[in-house]
Amino acid sequence: MARLAQTAGLTDVQEEILATVRDFVDKEIIPHAQHLEHEDAYPSDIVAGMREMGLFGLTIPEEYGGLGESLLTYALVVEQIARGWMSVSGVINTHFIVAHMVRHHGTEAQKQGLLPRMATGEVRGSFSMSEPDLGSDVAAIKTRARRDGDDYVVDGAKMWLTNGGSSNLIALLVRTDEGAERAHQNLTAFLVEKPEGFGEVAPGLTIPGKIDKMGYKGVDTTEAVFDGFRVPADAVLGAAPGRGFAQMMDGVEVGRVNVAARACGIAIRAFELAVEYAQQRRTFGKPIAEHQAIAFKLAEMATKVEAAHLMMVNAARLKDSGARNDVEAGMAKLLASEYCAEVTQESFRIHGGYGYSKEYEIERLMREAPFLLIGEGTSEIQKTIISRGLLREYRSRS
Ligand SMILES: Cc1cc2nc3c(=O)[nH]c(=O)nc-3n(C[C@H](O)[C@H](O)[C@H](O)COP(=O)(O)OP(=O)(O)OC[C@H]3O[C@@H](n4cnc5c(N)ncnc54)[C@H](O)[C@@H]3O)c2cc1C
Repeated sequence: MARLAQTAGLTDVQEEILATVRDFVDKEIIPHAQHLEHEDAYPSDIVAGMREMGLFGLTIPEEYGGLGESLLTYALVVEQIARGWMSVSGVINTHFIVAHMVRHHGTEAQKQGLLPRMATGEVRGSFSMSEPDLGSDVAAIKTRARRDGDDYVVDGAKMWLTNGGSSNLIALLVRTDEGAERAHQNLTAFLVEKPEGFGEVAPGLTIPGKIDKMGYKGVDTTEAVFDGFRVPADAVLGAAPGRGFAQMMDGVEVGRVNVAARACGIAIRAFELAVEYAQQRRTFGKPIAEHQAIAFKLAEMATKVEAAHLMMVNAARLKDSGARNDVEAGMAKLLASEYCAEVTQESFRIHGGYGYSKEYEIERLMREAPFLLIGEGTSEIQKTIISRGLLREYRSRS
């Protein structure tokens, strides 16, 4: 058999990109991940390496200075990166979502102004919907922007901005009250350029500091406080007030494929660690891999890795074909993140006591996997999306 998580039908260019990234992950990420993660240190050298490889512009069209690759290529790259260290995939994920939104929903001026700089990594995006009082219930957003001359004035608080401090562009979803009856039609997305850093980074905009998280360290996750912050009206994404909810949800759909890919990457790594350890560790006179209970764990883990990878690839290909993939991305995200948690847990058990030691990589994966059950919509929210889609498609005729 071949190694796990192979993908049939890739082009030579895709194969080449993946081989380069895999090599980079093995040499530049895996050897440093534990140390950087325990220090909660931003992976500046790794990010510089990714810029050099052009990964910040991977999916940005060539006419805007990017590599013009598909969502599938991106997802497979993310899978590799997360295999090395999930936080590194976090650095590019929000950037990628924002680039997708600018490309598909931005005005030509916004595309010209942002995409070439995003392709080089000079401009780096973060994505802000969640607030202290809400995450799943996006339509309940309270942060407001009111029109004042050529500007909007923003007031309110945002929560959980991945790359909130290290980015210099926020895709920001706020309430603008367009007079629409349905709550989500009163939401508008802004492209807010701001300096990197923490504290009051611009008049009326404060990024208080990094939230101390249980895992997913190194990459900064922050709050953002808006107090009379002025943003020009031409920063409204696509010059389309009231369209923000749909625009951000389009971003979230590609983000869900990305989270599924991350889950696959972590699960692959957890399997690799387990299968290696199980052949080294001996009990009762033989390697533990020769005890059927452990061998069967490996079989189940590998099957889950394969299933998750196939669903993730299917969801990415569907979106690349131009079709909506809300249900398929939801299914891929649900399955991959739940399986990732299970595979990681099994790998941890196979490591015995050593799995609990900070010297072994599996302890980090154990802290990373739970985030995937939450980010880009919890498992319960994925089930809501999937079941709604099913009931639409299988509507009873009786
Ligand atoms: C490390 C980290 C990074 C993040 N990065 C970002 C980011 O970059 N940008 C951003 O905008 N957000 C980000 N988030 C926020 C994330 O998207 C939300 O945490 C997530 O959507 C869940 O929202 P919540 O935390 O408000 O939970 P809630 O919405 O309060 O949900 C709490 C619980 O109730 C369940 N629940 C809620 N509604 C329903 C329902 N209708 N039916 C059944 N169950 C339900 C949920 O599944 C969950 O179990 C990040 C979060 C974390 C932890």
